[in-house]
Amino acid sequence: MQIPFMRLDRQYESIRDEILPAIDGVLEGGRVLQSPEVETLERRLAALHGRAHCVALNSGTDALIFALAALGLPEGACVAVPAMSFIASVSAIVHARLVPVFVDIDPESMLMDPAPVIDLIRDGRVDAVLAVHLYGQLADLDEVAVEAERCGIPIVEDAAQAVGATRHGKPAGAWGAATCLSFDPTKVLSAYGSGGAVLTEDPALADRVRLLRYHGHAGNQLYETLGYNSQLDSLQAAILCVKLGHLEDWQARRTAIAERVLSTLDGLNAIRPVKTLPGNQHNYHKFAFQFEDRAGLAAHLKEQGVDTKVQYPTSLHRQPCFAGVDEVPVLPCVERAAESVLSLPMYAELNDAEVGYMVDAILDFYR
Ligand SMILES: *Cc1c(COP(=O)(O)O)cnc(C)c1O
Repeated sequence: MQIPFMRLDRQYESIRDEILPAIDGVLEGGRVLQSPEVETLERRLAALHGRAHCVALNSGTDALIFALAALGLPEGACVAVPAMSFIASVSAIVHARLVPVFVDIDPESMLMDPAPVIDLIRDGRVDAVLAVHLYGQLADLDEVAVEAERCGIPIVEDAAQAVGATRHGKPAGAWGAATCLSFDPTKVLSAYGSGGAVLTEDPALADRVRLLRYHGHAGNQLYETLGYNSQLDSLQAAILCVKLGHLEDWQARRTAIAERVLSTLDGLNAIRPVKTLPGNQHNYHKFAFQFEDRAGLAAHLKEQGVDTKVQYPTSLHRQPCFAGVDEVPVLPCVERAAESVLSLPMYAELNDAEVGYMVDAILDFYR
C-alpha cells in the first residue's frame, strides 16, 4: 500500500463536478481579476471568521507582510514571534522592516508560550506580537491579548494553518488587529495555485492592505502609496468558494481519522501526540507527534509505503536567512521539538483501510 503525504488528486475527483462549472463560469464571464467571485470569497471568509473585512491576496506570505505593514509601526520596531513555524511567519516581519524577537513554545502543544510574550510586552521590549496557530489549533492568546491591549500593542494572527479551527468556540481572528490566511495547496482550504487573505475589524487597516495589494491605486490612476501586485485571481476565488462548501465535512472526516489513530496509539510511551489545548477544536491541518527514534520510524514507514514529514526540522532562529537579525536566543522547547516532531499523512480522503494500515505500521515499529 502507498500512502502519500497529500492526495489532492482524490479531493479533486470528489468535487470535480462542482469545480469544472465554477472555472467555466469565470472564463465565460471574461473577468479573471477583480471580479465578483473575489468579492464573494472575501465576504464568505469574513463571515466564517466573524470579521467585518477581508482582503484576498496572492499568498499567505503577502497577507502577513501587508498586515504588518498596515499596522504602521516605525521601521525597526520589534515583533514577538514563536521560533517554531513556517519560514514566512518571520520573513514577513523582516520584509516589513521590523525586527523579530524569537520566543519559545509550550513543550506539549508546540504553540507559542504566552508567558515570555507577556513578559516582553510588560517590559516594553516588543511593539507587536505575531502569534502562530500552529499545525491547526489556535494559540492561547487570552492573557496575551489583555496585556497587549493594556499596552497598546497590536497582535497579528498567523492563521495560515488554522482555517476552521476554534478556541472556546471562537475562530481565528478574535484576538488580532489583523489575521492572515493562506490557500497554499498544502492547507485545509487550498487553491489550485497560491492565495491568501487578511481579515480585520478595522476598515482603515483593510483599506491600507487593499492599497498595498494593487500599487497603492486609489482610483483614476492615482497611486497614493507604493504598493505591490498581489491579487487573488478569479479562478482561485471561484475554486475556493466551491471548497468552502465542503470544509465542514472534510473537517469531520479528519477529526474522525485523528480520533481513531489517537485512541489506537494511546498509552504507548514512545509516542506522544502534540497536545490539543483544552477548549480547542483542532482542524488537523498537520497530524503531529513526538516519536521516540523519529528517524527510525520515518524510515520504517517509508519502507511500508507511508510518507511522513518533519515540520519543522530547523527552528526559525537558526535559519541562515535570519542570521544577524537577532542574537540567537536560547529556546530549549523549540530545539527539542525540531528534533522530535513528525507528521503523519492526514486528509479527508484517507480511507479506513489506509488508516488501519498506517497505525499497524507504527505499532509494528515499536513492537
Ligand atoms: C503556509 C504558511 C504561511 C505562508 O502562506 P503562503 O500562502 O504559502 O505564502 C505563513 N505562515 C504559516 C504558519 C504557514 O503555514
